[in-house]
Amino acid sequence: MPMNKPEPLSATVSVPVVEPLDAADQALVDGVLARQLRPLAKTITLTESLREDHKARAQKVLEALLPHTGGAMRVGISGVPGVGKSTFIEALGLHLIEQGLRVAVLAVDPSSSVTGGSILGDKTRMELLSQNPAAFIRPSPSACSLGGVAEKTRETLLVCEAAGFDVIIVETVGVGQSETAVAGMTDIFCLLQLPNAGDDLQAIKKGIMEIADLIVINKADIDPAAAMRAKSQIKTALHMLRPASPNWTVPVLTLSALKKDGVTEFWDTVMDYRKALTASGELASKRRHQALAWMWEMIDSELRSRFRSHPQVKQELPGLAQAVEAGEVTPSAAARRLLGHL
Ligand code: GDP
Repeated sequence: MPMNKPEPLSATVSVPVVEPLDAADQALVDGVLARQLRPLAKTITLTESLREDHKARAQKVLEALLPHTGGAMRVGISGVPGVGKSTFIEALGLHLIEQGLRVAVLAVDPSSSVTGGSILGDKTRMELLSQNPAAFIRPSPSACSLGGVAEKTRETLLVCEAAGFDVIIVETVGVGQSETAVAGMTDIFCLLQLPNAGDDLQAIKKGIMEIADLIVINKADIDPAAAMRAKSQIKTALHMLRPASPNWTVPVLTLSALKKDGVTEFWDTVMDYRKALTASGELASKRRHQALAWMWEMIDSELRSRFRSHPQVKQELPGLAQAVEAGEVTPSAAARRLLGHL
């Protein structure tokens, strides 16, 4: 069935560019808007750079691109290593390209700064998709914190939208807080599960199921009966949770990424979600909240870093910390004194 391209959703606040861009940066903006891959990759590299002058240039370029963002369907995909994420993303990506859509795949992998290389969004894991001209695959940026990785991925997502990608898939591993970060930057967060009984309970314990908008039991081809059992168990578990949206009941699908069985149904469900939440205005409001939360996260982290690098704070902090530990100064008095330097 032919798929309509998602209607552009504009929820990002556009700030007019104060200073004009220099010729090199204007060329990047023009190249991204003309959907050229080289300027796209160069712009992303610029946003990922830790150099202060690059950061300033990247912000200007992003501001110029911002009015052209918001048009993609942003899909988060999570699941433990081995669940079949890359097999699934490749099958889904190729399915979408067949429908005439352009697909970008990004990754949030906080371990990449430790290992030096990304285990997610790796081109060698999605060989067919990475060779397709309608696809763009970008591995996780490396940064020292999850916050840093998430921020850069959010910016990359905007750059990809300005470059006209219709669907942006953000992949993450099913461990830790990276899932919350990805749920916070996508329209729909999909959790891939294995068809065994233990897994769903684990997901509930970690609170992951609360943030999932769609649950997929992959590898259903291995033992279809077990997949159906897992499906009903997860459905029962979901009944016990408070629904996150009044307009959406979280579906549980069974799928075989390897056999490409269920991929069409998956995307139909994503489109149903989009329709339901667009009609109610919830999707636009979700994006507004995500943008504001991003702003506050940036403010918090910038304040923290300015605080820690303040000369007087640096000078007094060790002594005051010791005094707090020794019970000589109350934590609140020490905090007030240090914050007073800001
Ligand atoms: P990831 O670590 O979550 O990205 O998982 P991969 O996509 O690399 O898949 C891990 C292994 O599971 C690979 O050997 C895949 O071929 C296999 N696999 C993925 N999806 C399926 C499926 O639907 N059925 C079966 N039988 N194997 C699958």
